Amino acid sequence: MATLKKTIIRGGLETLYFSGLHHWMRPLVGGVGSILTLHHVRPPRPDAFQPNRLLEVTPVFLECLLRQLKRSRLDVISLDEMHHRFINGEFKRRFVCITFDDGYKDLMRWAYPLLRKYQVPFAAYIATSFPDRLGELWWLALEAVIAQNTRVGMLIDGEQKFFECRTVGEKRELYNAIYGYLRSLKTEDELRKVMRDLCATYSVDIASFCRELCMDWQEITDLAADPLVTIGAHTVNHKMLMKVPDDTAVRAEMEMSRAVLEAALGTRPNHLSYPVGDPTSAGPREFRIAAELGFKTAVTTRPGVLFKAHRDHLTALPRISVNGEFQRQRYLKVLMSGAATAMWNGFRRVNAA
Ligand SMILES: [Zn+2]
Repeated sequence: MATLKKTIIRGGLETLYFSGLHHWMRPLVGGVGSILTLHHVRPPRPDAFQPNRLLEVTPVFLECLLRQLKRSRLDVISLDEMHHRFINGEFKRRFVCITFDDGYKDLMRWAYPLLRKYQVPFAAYIATSFPDRLGELWWLALEAVIAQNTRVGMLIDGEQKFFECRTVGEKRELYNAIYGYLRSLKTEDELRKVMRDLCATYSVDIASFCRELCMDWQEITDLAADPLVTIGAHTVNHKMLMKVPDDTAVRAEMEMSRAVLEAALGTRPNHLSYPVGDPTSAGPREFRIAAELGFKTAVTTRPGVLFKAHRDHLTALPRISVNGEFQRQRYLKVLMSGAATAMWNGFRRVNAA
């Protein structure tokens, strides 16, 4: 199903690209700018089973993107500058903001040298439990459990079930099924409990992903010292906030991560990214709390470009995901024109519900 959807989306993009429709639509939906989302930037790995590959791009691709942005008539600006333009209604030139979620070491190793080379401002949103080495990157732990075993047993709705996963095809299918099941659980606490049990059964150290992949405090401090860099908050525990029933706990996740970053770096983050950030993870309650806490902007992963009207919804901003599935440059051009995302949004300009 997921593959089919990707094929359809990709087919749609091909059609838009070749028909030139996006040029025609630009004045209508191109908006005033866009925010790009990236996660990992690293050389491709040969493994056949990489269910999380959609969260990464290669350094070569990133360099092409940066070169293209530099050549374009778009301003590549910081989140503070974007906020300034919204507040003052300065929309003469279209802009792009570049953002990285989670704070992986590969940002420092592969992306940062390129971002410096092209002198491009960017933001890194940090979930503070990651440098504290307490984070649970459960989507990677699930990948490891399935990669390392040929049969996986787990308790589903109180019943012990077993699944064969010998071939790459079976592993992909099982990953999608368990991932879907986890995302369907009502609370993030339930999800974490299932994953902790699964990791305990199959001897996967859930904390290891955080240690191996995420920047430590020294690296974040070094990065934050560069004027090109904006450090933003990404909560403490990287929970899907809509799956946290208690309002106070949601507020604490946002507020604490900002306080911890401020204590570590000496500067108070003004910008927030909601973990996962899709409509099942961040909604009106989260947008309201972020605004009440005084964040200048907060970003989702809802696909879309920005319009003047987002001035009134600065804590519910859409972004455009730059990921492994769509890393060919011509797709990105279509995405940034707003044509594709407008289609996904059903032509609603602002979707903050
Ligand atoms: Zn994240």
